[in-house]
Amino acid sequence: MIERLDAFMARANAAYYATRDPFADFTTAPEISQVFGELLGLWAAVVWQSMGAPAQVLLVEAGPGRGTLMVDALRAVGRMVPDFHGALRLHLVETSPSLRAIQAGKLDATWHDRVEDVPDGPMILLANEFLDALPIRQFVRRDVWCERFVEDGVFVERPTAAGLPEASEGTVLERCEPALELAGYLGARLAAQGGAALFVDYGPAESAPGDSLQALRGGAFCDPLVEAGTADLTAHVDFQAIAGAAVGTAAHGPVPQGKFLARLGLFQRTGVLARTLQPEAASRLIVSAQRLAEPDGMGRLFKALALCHPDLPQPPGFSE
Ligand code: SAH
Repeated sequence: MIERLDAFMARANAAYYATRDPFADFTTAPEISQVFGELLGLWAAVVWQSMGAPAQVLLVEAGPGRGTLMVDALRAVGRMVPDFHGALRLHLVETSPSLRAIQAGKLDATWHDRVEDVPDGPMILLANEFLDALPIRQFVRRDVWCERFVEDGVFVERPTAAGLPEASEGTVLERCEPALELAGYLGARLAAQGGAALFVDYGPAESAPGDSLQALRGGAFCDPLVEAGTADLTAHVDFQAIAGAAVGTAAHGPVPQGKFLARLGLFQRTGVLARTLQPEAASRLIVSAQRLAEPDGMGRLFKALALCHPDLPQPPGFSE
């Protein structure tokens, strides 16, 4: 069988998320510290207020994993901004049946396969490490531009007619079509119906060539092309391309995760919580906040990008 890379990646990740516990292979920000979800929940509450506090709003999370981010977000919102808690209707976008079951044990929500299936209305969307799992295409410059296919666990290259810029021999370009389509959809939808979307993920601040496809199994890097469905496949998110595709919205960022979370109060909230804990648990919480924020942890490679209705003010976390 020969498959274009995006078809291979879609099949591999669908099998992976349906059958494995992804969190045995990698860990994510909401699993590292409860403060991450709390801050994103309060971010959504401030955006809701800036929208004029509509009596009903769709709170949507794409790729909720174990549901941890949303549980933490709703707890914080319930305490701090109860009017927002009362106004929100929770919709979760998740394709994995096993992860849906875990989410359903913790959250009262409506589930969808695609963001496009969420009913009409003003919407605030949160997505952490969702875009990086979406399938990419890869192009390699030879004498002509070629596209990568996967056959028997190795890359095969075929000449392509895709219109690509001039580049030197060996240059690799990536394109994540589902992410660009989602951005285009959100642009039109948010402009017409109101709201905002916040994406936190990993990738460079500006579009850059290079092969960023990676596979993680048991916390270690492995060959992405063999044993499809047994490892988590991800690629860098091209924030610049996504911002450009979200026509109709104002894009804010991307800003490095460390700055974003620090501006939202990561260390203040961590300090308040730490004072309620035994010394060992308190120091674990502080170390986890540092891991989220420090440049050599997740603070620099991970970024936050917001797509907002153009009439909304700049959302929290994005101004210098
Ligand atoms: N946001 C969570 C989980 C990240 S893992 C966290 O930060 O911990 C990626 C999540 O996206 C998983 O829930 C996975 O099942 C889901 N997912 C992957 N591809 C998807 C797709 N095409 N449509 C909907 N959900 C998808």
